[in-house]
Amino acid sequence: KLRETLEVIRYDRRMESEDLDHKHIERELRRALTDGSGFTMYYQPILPAKGGDGPLRYEALARWFSPELGQVPPDQFIKVAEASGLIMQLGWVLLDHICKDMKLLKDAKVSINVSPTQLMSRGFAEKFTAYVRAHDISPERIEVEVTEQIVLRDDVTISQELITLSANGFTLALDDFGTGFASIGYLMRMPFDALKIDRSFVRAIEEGEDGMRMIRSIIGLARAMGLSIVAEGVETETDAARLRINGADFLQGYHYGRPAPIDHYLRTATPAS
Ligand code: C2E
Ligand code: CA
Ligand code: CA
Ligand code: CA
Repeated sequence: KLRETLEVIRYDRRMESEDLDHKHIERELRRALTDGSGFTMYYQPILPAKGGDGPLRYEALARWFSPELGQVPPDQFIKVAEASGLIMQLGWVLLDHICKDMKLLKDAKVSINVSPTQLMSRGFAEKFTAYVRAHDISPERIEVEVTEQIVLRDDVTISQELITLSANGFTLALDDFGTGFASIGYLMRMPFDALKIDRSFVRAIEEGEDGMRMIRSIIGLARAMGLSIVAEGVETETDAARLRINGADFLQGYHYGRPAPIDHYLRTATPAS
């Protein structure tokens, strides 16, 4: 009984401290957004699986340094931003950074993560388009990544906003594919161009023949639907070789480069290593 009680107390404490963290992050995030300071974008290269030198591609990944909290991982502050509604404002701040960086990246294509909350706001796609055009950037240079989570929301506004983005020339990728909820029906209804296979699947190929078969069937399915396939979390040359053999179109992961500040690419003119 005592042990149970202690367990309950410990659990409560943990919840409290998580709440405090959340509140603390939210407060600092709100403060940071008053002048937009502390946010930067990192870029991770995405390489054609077959090699060769097509146009360079990168995924833009947000970084936040808070004077109070230090470096806060994006998984954490994005979650808080979504829950508090701050993601709208944050999204525009980040897009501003990305557009400025894209001018320096010449004709590279950049993948931008957009959260379901942003897509639930009616008119988002047109505003996003106007923003990009105002920076003199062609929508063809941008791929919008949305996580499989949007399928759970199954919301008409999200569908309409995705259709508008696609019609305006952006390509669309379904991110974290395989982590849960996307159905073939959904994929067929929505104008996706690419599928990003979650790194948990890429890990599965290391487990042996079953994992291989799974990856192969996902890629076969995507291929049949005319989607291009990006594999995330490629950490070794062995991973890369297996994905290549099984038909992935693009590879992304620490093996090719960790996310890095824009300067890194401007200095070396080649992807990070
Ligand atoms: P994501 O969109 O799935 O991004 C890929 C994450 O995997 C990145 O984490 C990247 O650094 C990491 N990664 C890349 N290659 C490897 C690898 O080989 N091995 C391993 N273990 N990890 C790898 P990061 O930068 O910490 O971002 C985490 C998540 O935060 C992102 O996951 C995305 O969901 C979210 N996020 C980041 N930036 C933004 C943003 O600007 N907007 C929104 N809405 N979400 C963002
Ligand atoms: Ca992503
Ligand atoms: Ca992903
Ligand atoms: Ca992920």
